Amino acid sequence: HAKESGRGCHAFFDSEIDDRNRRRIQIKNGLRLARARGELSLAYQPEVDPVSGEVKIYEALMRWYSNEIGFVSPVEFIAVAEESELIEDLTEWLIGQVAEDCRQAPLNAAKISINLSPRQFRSESWLRQINAAVASGAVDPRRLCIEVTESALVEDFSRAHAQLQQMKKLGIEVAIDDFGTGYSSLSYLKRMPIDYLKIDRSFVADIGQDTDDQTIVETVIVMAHALGLKVVAEGAENEQQVAFLRKNHCDLIQGYYYAKPALLHDLAREQLNTH
Ligand code: C2E
Ligand code: MG
Ligand code: MG
Ligand code: MG
Repeated sequence: HAKESGRGCHAFFDSEIDDRNRRRIQIKNGLRLARARGELSLAYQPEVDPVSGEVKIYEALMRWYSNEIGFVSPVEFIAVAEESELIEDLTEWLIGQVAEDCRQAPLNAAKISINLSPRQFRSESWLRQINAAVASGAVDPRRLCIEVTESALVEDFSRAHAQLQQMKKLGIEVAIDDFGTGYSSLSYLKRMPIDYLKIDRSFVADIGQDTDDQTIVETVIVMAHALGLKVVAEGAENEQQVAFLRKNHCDLIQGYYYAKPALLHDLAREQLNTH
């Protein structure tokens, strides 16, 4: 009997792997066609100065609606794209789209921030793509910001440093995304050429519920400011969180409280919750 259930378990495990592989292959095949089929789009989410209510940055967030498998989260499809040269195609599309969109209101009054995953960051092809876009005059580098996570920076300090330094030289700002969730030493904060820390949503979510998380948020803001960095809080959803962040001099706030990510077409008509 034990043998039997053991085998059953094994079979279940196998079919789960099959399902996961099938899904991954579906995503990979779908992504190859996504760009040509016009299935990709960018949603933009504002990062707001909580004192003035001004939008300083819009974060570009990739969206893919596949005709075959429906909506796929960027967390899922970026991970698949990264396994191959597909990621380069997506990045090229992203940069081209941002270059076009940044001339349109309301994006033309702010900076645009783009995400680079750790593997993407290490591949360096994005660097050539951004350099080319800037050199051709397609994008004004002073209007751009890149977001990388801590894990992108820890593996090869000097290479990561050199890559960020190239961005800084162009006038592109650099943000550490999901700050507080990676495994890294704090010493890189003063040695890396960075402009913003984006405090991960998990800490912000617990403001008002968990005093430890509140202390972490307060402390990160004080530390960042002492190092000359600006702070963005991710994922603020309610008044209480925003009030707390404002009181603690958080420079920018991003989250559903102000606005969900929206397509450019819908951004123009959107009213920010800035009372
Ligand atoms: P991220 O860069 O940390 O982006 C923030 C995510 O938090 C977005 O999810 C956004 O919709 C969500 N968010 C913002 N405010 C709130 C809030 O108040 N409450 C909640 N519950 N969520 C909030 P999204 O758009 O699903 O993107 C997920 C992740 O996918 C991003 O995390 C980023 O790591 C990745 N991603 C998205 N677009 C791209 C891209 O173009 N390139 C790369 N490499 N990664 C991307
Ligand atoms: Mg981000
Ligand atoms: Mg983030
Ligand atoms: Mg996040």
